[in-house]
Amino acid sequence: MDAYEKIISLAKRRGFLYPSYEIYGGEAGFYDYGPLGILMKNNIENKWREFYLLKEKFFEISTPVITPYDVLKASGHVDEFIDEIATCKKCGASFKVEELKEGKCPICGGDVEKGKLNLMFETYIGAKKKEQAFLRPETAQGIFVDFPLLYEFFRKKMPFGVIQVGKGFRNEVSPRQGIIRLREFSMAEAEIFFEPDNKKHENFDMVKNEEMLLVTENDEEFKISIGKAVEKGIIGNEALAYYMAITKNFLTSVGIDEEKIRFRQHKKDELAHYANECWDAEIYSERFGWVECVGIADRAAHDLEAHMKATGVDMRAFKKYDEPIKVKKKIIKAKMDVLGKTFKQKAKKIREELEKIEVGDEVEKIKVTVDGEEIELGREFFTIEEVEEMETGKKFIPHVIEPSYGIDRIFYFILEHNYKETEKEGENYVLLTLPPEIAPVKAGVFPLVNKDGLPEIAREIEEELRKNGIMAIYDDRGSIGRRYARMDEIGTPFCITVDYQTKEDETVTIRYRDTTEQIRVDKKKVAEWIKERIG
Ligand code: AMP
Repeated sequence: MDAYEKIISLAKRRGFLYPSYEIYGGEAGFYDYGPLGILMKNNIENKWREFYLLKEKFFEISTPVITPYDVLKASGHVDEFIDEIATCKKCGASFKVEELKEGKCPICGGDVEKGKLNLMFETYIGAKKKEQAFLRPETAQGIFVDFPLLYEFFRKKMPFGVIQVGKGFRNEVSPRQGIIRLREFSMAEAEIFFEPDNKKHENFDMVKNEEMLLVTENDEEFKISIGKAVEKGIIGNEALAYYMAITKNFLTSVGIDEEKIRFRQHKKDELAHYANECWDAEIYSERFGWVECVGIADRAAHDLEAHMKATGVDMRAFKKYDEPIKVKKKIIKAKMDVLGKTFKQKAKKIREELEKIEVGDEVEKIKVTVDGEEIELGREFFTIEEVEEMETGKKFIPHVIEPSYGIDRIFYFILEHNYKETEKEGENYVLLTLPPEIAPVKAGVFPLVNKDGLPEIAREIEEELRKNGIMAIYDDRGSIGRRYARMDEIGTPFCITVDYQTKEDETVTIRYRDTTEQIRVDKKKVAEWIKERIG
């Protein structure tokens, strides 16, 4: 068994991950989180919130999964969220073109037919009059379409960030990599809105010495500090670099091995349709090699511009100058006498449309639309005048930097990087060295023996821990050694044992998972003691 098989088997046995719909033969690309799995996943997501909500001072929103056609048409997903696929003419299996070996089906060696597949799941809104819709392929669009309201919420001050944690759906062609490639997966995304020429971060100095392993678009691999990478123009701007550093800090804080993180730049032909520049945080795994787990993209003005064009709603922000400035403008003045003679009662409306237009330079002809009719006007109908105006600021479409995290992949790699096997008394011994904050269960509570009032004291301690918001599990089955082993295998950082001394001096033993060291603590202070150590 390789590491992946061992971990997936442990995950199933101990209630972290179950293959979905298994009694019906299973469904590739879907996984269930079991009782311990969901506790751990919530811990990861809450740790992520600690970074992006609390430290970065962003706000979270929650928008629908079902997304109308028009939204994803405008964003470019309908036309461009596409994989090149190949389908075997002999056995009918489908693959991504890049998975093909020598142009033949990797399963049966048959000839293949190439085609394209949009990765979005289609659905409909309404019963009779059906409106086409999709399950969202990313949570980001829900944030972009709310931009005008969010801009108000943040009192029109930039930069600001909005996050969303939720499900994303992609009908992957042939998900053969278990939990790594899902069709329904959990994302944690932040969309941070900037003035286009000011993609900086006020705390950049705090991360600039962070050393990162980078792989550039030319496949050069080296370690460099994040500050130097920006100075040398390897990473396009400070904000993008800052969120790369934050990503590394987050990943190590949830238990990813620092030596197994690198940032790989997308090549030009690999960039998503919405991205100008993108760096993937990749995590190393025994079976899969380097796997993308977080995409950190500079989406520039792509999305807001697209939604503004599609809806006509102003998605721009306004930047006030320190001092109003004088600007020269060329404006159009209608010649009403000529217009009146030619267009009669329509002349007034034509003038209104004409005078809305701002011209950069001299023009000979202008088109306006009045009552649905397009009218072309030559210079006999208007003059162009230069005027001076005071301008208090300017409107612009904000740029977006987006760190987009795939929670399920991170979840799996935390298990892989913390899975330790040793031998104990001739038997295979498994230890999950999860950070205490991430571990699903924080404490095991055991009576040394099932008599003499020890179980009652242990139950009281379990209750007390739970009252304090600490997930604790009471266990009185089997030897203490077996109980420790069961807790070690699910990564429980502390085990509390009530013994005969507890009855004498009110202390219990607390055993540390990783060192097996034991100390005695006053039983009334156990909750506080654990709280201090689980963040
Ligand atoms: P992307 O929008 O493609 O950059 O995806 C953002 C993140 O979502 C990736 O870095 C992955 O961690 C995760 N992700 C994307 N596709 C899948 C998938 N099919 N299964 C699981 N996670 C995925």
